[in-house]
Amino acid sequence: MHTRHVLHNRDAMIAGFFQPLPPSTVVVDKALSRCVRLVPVEMPAEICSCSPVSLRVNPGKAVAVVTVNGRHDLSMPELSCDACHATWAAGVDNLIRSGYWPATLQFATIYDTDVFHSFEEMKMEAPGLSCQAFLRMLDQRTLHFGRVSIKMIYPTVSFIRLFCGFKSCLLLAGKISADSFHKSFFEWEAVRFEVDNIVKEERFICPACSPDMLAVSVDGNRKHYRFKNSA
Ligand SMILES: [Zn+2]
Ligand SMILES: [Zn+2]
Repeated sequence: MHTRHVLHNRDAMIAGFFQPLPPSTVVVDKALSRCVRLVPVEMPAEICSCSPVSLRVNPGKAVAVVTVNGRHDLSMPELSCDACHATWAAGVDNLIRSGYWPATLQFATIYDTDVFHSFEEMKMEAPGLSCQAFLRMLDQRTLHFGRVSIKMIYPTVSFIRLFCGFKSCLLLAGKISADSFHKSFFEWEAVRFEVDNIVKEERFICPACSPDMLAVSVDGNRKHYRFKNSA
């Protein structure tokens, strides 16, 4: 089950403690062991004309997937054929069709577009919300669900531990980059605006001023006179 639904949160009783499990861990004989989990992304059914039995799914390079539940450290799936050595790796189009937004063309980080939708909705409801605050919330969720990879942070932990508490150390490691998030969010917004233009979707229809102005603001008139006088 977890092989296919890698983005859900899990926990288990290990060594007497009930603790959350990161996606790349499995419980074997009541002990934790590491495993490779692949990003759920659409894959072609065949990549060559050989028989499907020779097709293999391999873990590709490491990638950080950022969803509304924080960050997940997974691997990109790659397909290869044992018979003719044809290979396939996910491209930008596959990622976008599967609902992700790559931060860079190397796919070191990919965002679930749902996280941008949520951020946008929250900005609409609470315009004062900062990007930093939203990311702190995501970082807290990463930490809460135990998805900070210890392996990744070991070299830095002992060093940083001297200066700060352990919890903030863990936070440093699983952190989502604010610059990258902001940039990708704006890219996503810009592309959505272009797409809306192409499909002729009007996102800002104001019933009060289109097609005809229904109300005239008294205050507006006064400002108009003042501008005229001062000019
Ligand atoms: Zn083949
Ligand atoms: Zn209006």
